[in-house]
Amino acid sequence: MPAPTMEQVVNLCKRRGFVFPGSEIYGGLGASLDYGPLGVELKRNVKDAWWRAVVTRRDDVVGLDAAIIMHPRVWEASGHIAGFTDPLVDCKACKQRFRADHVQGTVCPECGGELTAARQFNLMFKTYVGPVEDTAHVAHLRPETAQGTFVNFRNVLETSRLKLPFGIAQVGRSFRNEITPGNFLFRTREFEQMELEYFVRPGEDDHWFEHWRAERMRWYLDLGLGRERLRERPHGPDELAHYAKGCVDIEYQFPFGWSELEGIANRTDFDLRRHSEHSGKDLTYFDEERRERFLPYVIEPAAGADRSLLAFLVDAYTEEEVDGEARTVLRLHPQLAPYKAAVFPLLRKDGQPERARKIYDDLRRHFSADYDQAGSIGRRYRRQDEVGTPFGITVDHDTMRDGTVTLRERDSMTQVRVPEDRLIEELRGRIGGPNS
Ligand SMILES: [Zn+2]
Repeated sequence: MPAPTMEQVVNLCKRRGFVFPGSEIYGGLGASLDYGPLGVELKRNVKDAWWRAVVTRRDDVVGLDAAIIMHPRVWEASGHIAGFTDPLVDCKACKQRFRADHVQGTVCPECGGELTAARQFNLMFKTYVGPVEDTAHVAHLRPETAQGTFVNFRNVLETSRLKLPFGIAQVGRSFRNEITPGNFLFRTREFEQMELEYFVRPGEDDHWFEHWRAERMRWYLDLGLGRERLRERPHGPDELAHYAKGCVDIEYQFPFGWSELEGIANRTDFDLRRHSEHSGKDLTYFDEERRERFLPYVIEPAAGADRSLLAFLVDAYTEEEVDGEARTVLRLHPQLAPYKAAVFPLLRKDGQPERARKIYDDLRRHFSADYDQAGSIGRRYRRQDEVGTPFGITVDHDTMRDGTVTLRERDSMTQVRVPEDRLIEELRGRIGGPNS
């Protein structure tokens, strides 16, 4: 199946209410995007699937939800004040700013004007806490969730009964003032991260690095991404972050090229050590059995929720011909699909709408579902195919007589008859429960 173009995916997102341009009635704001009614469901399903795999189903990982604005000294300790920068040049004529490594020579690629020498530009968003706008009140919006985890390491350790190895997971917004955002949801200035910090005994870090590398690749595959469009790319020594001993990216082949979905890094004891030094607090771990005290190492699988969502959309998008008619279908994994099922009365008479409504009401107590009675049944199926609804349920003449409905499957378009009172059970079997 040929991969779709970004234009096809972006159009579908706009047309069907997955993703809208941000602040659109004011002409939009660059690289700012809003999730619509279906997009918000899809994104929630992506984050829930991650949480189930990384937290709920494991006995060695707990969750956390730290504040976005943190103490200014956090970012000194983490190295973000000094090192989270891009080299930039400014055009003296048109005032545009470019990444120094993206321009050739010393003239502006937009207007031909003269460029300044490169300066380091910090990517963190700056703001002020409280009513006074002076340097003493400067704060930053977090560029990653990880630091909220490290500063809470002691709190979690003291309030839980976790022993190494164990992990602390967070899902939340982060902010980076990117100079060159783009590729739709791939790079935006605010985005959602799904990050795990997994603390291990030094010496066991290589083993756990491999464990998480395999686990995380399996997650994407289990949720339906094509094997041939996924790959691992280990970082060379020259591109490793200052804190990392090793890093591998999981990349997806987007229409704009192979790009990172997730990085799995061995952060060593860098962060806990720095926060110990800067806060003056002891962040060591005491191993009761071995009577040893040490700083744990950290393995960090850090995924982007928006990027994953974009990969799932691109991978699921299919245009095909069925009986001489074009059909657009999103072959989303049922667990990710915004609606699990849609209910249709075949006719808008003979009590069919009322019967279908009742089935829809029952269904929504278990799954997100949609109801549609407008237009031909063929058109209604197509509308649901396009947003990835895996199952269609049709109430027809026979339903009124024998209590069975038609259950249509999105991908194969095959139809079977199922007794109304077995519908929930049947769907649960096919979709898998929330914890399957
Ligand atoms: Zn210029």
